[in-house]
Amino acid sequence: RASAVDAQTSSDKGVENVVIIGSGPAGYTAAIYAARANLKPVVFEGYQVGGVPGGQLMTTTEVENFPGFPEGITGPDLMDRMRRQAERWGAELFQEDVEYVDVKNSPFTVKSSERKVKCHSIVYATGATAQRLRLPREDEFWSRGISACAICDGASPLFKGQVLAVVGGGDTATEEAIYLTKYARHVHLLVRRDQLRASKAMQDRVFNNSNITVHFNTETVDVVSNTKGQMSGILVRKLDTGEESVLEAKGLFYGIGHSPNSQLLEGQVELDRSGYVIVEEGTAKTSVRGVFAAGDVQDHEWRQAVTAAGSGCVAALSVERYLVHNN
Ligand code: FAD
Repeated sequence: RASAVDAQTSSDKGVENVVIIGSGPAGYTAAIYAARANLKPVVFEGYQVGGVPGGQLMTTTEVENFPGFPEGITGPDLMDRMRRQAERWGAELFQEDVEYVDVKNSPFTVKSSERKVKCHSIVYATGATAQRLRLPREDEFWSRGISACAICDGASPLFKGQVLAVVGGGDTATEEAIYLTKYARHVHLLVRRDQLRASKAMQDRVFNNSNITVHFNTETVDVVSNTKGQMSGILVRKLDTGEESVLEAKGLFYGIGHSPNSQLLEGQVELDRSGYVIVEEGTAKTSVRGVFAAGDVQDHEWRQAVTAAGSGCVAALSVERYLVHNN
């Protein structure tokens, strides 16, 4: 079988086969597959999330739903294993943020603060950022009471059987609230406006669920803790009266949306209205040939480590096919 490296010509000197941007499950999986295909991928890992490579999972403790780890694994440990696996197969890793990408001219250009790389293809795997409320005690209770992912954390012992709250009034928040009722004793939905923005179907499901109480005109001010330093409630303010009170809850879930990290591709690759990279259905292909996208930056729906890893695999295999067969 012709390898993609064999398909390169001498005029390709100084031009890399593929640059992978991002070091979450999508980026590292793409790196593992591309390296094993002998493509010698160059990976810009970035350090935007928490000042370290590894992406969103670096900000969590236990990951209980990634296949292959029956006892669970910590987010940083999982990402360290993926990183080492990519390195073992020869991926070249740079802990640098990419500052500029040009995919209008071929070969493409990728530039970080330290270097400029020319390449035939790109896997764009820069992830998404869960929007936060920036509560005064948010950092203190992040992953210890505050979460941005009900599917990831809802079943954890910290939250199981407890009273929980979700902030937001759109589809994400209502879905999270409904999902959490499987595990929680009761769920409060904290909505700033006087109505929900979610679809009618989701609204009906929320209003018909006796385990959810919707609080309209309600601003989330901060979380409060007990004498043991555990989260015990949420300080809320009624926007119509200004009255403040503490709602008893052991967990607070943010359902206020995600921002895809797609800024570098703006004006060059087709993005949807929310900024997610548009890929051809069932593929990793973007609107520009040779540019592939994987993970949360192109997925507004599932946003899981395993789906990100799966799409990173698809992207790397697509790169290989593109370099060999030009399609
Ligand atoms: P990310 O993990 O977001 O990684 C993107 C990477 O791109 C980062 O390394 C970032 O630094 C880099 N990057 C961004 N911009 C640039 C740039 N300009 N140059 C270079 N690099 C750049 N999912 C689960 O399946 N199970 C869980 O238990 C779970 N728990 C979670 C807990 C928390 C607190 C959070 C926030 C998410 C959780 N998720 C979980 C979701 C999961 O983390 C994401 O779906 C997954 O990480 C997405 O992977 P990704 O590779 O697309 O992007």
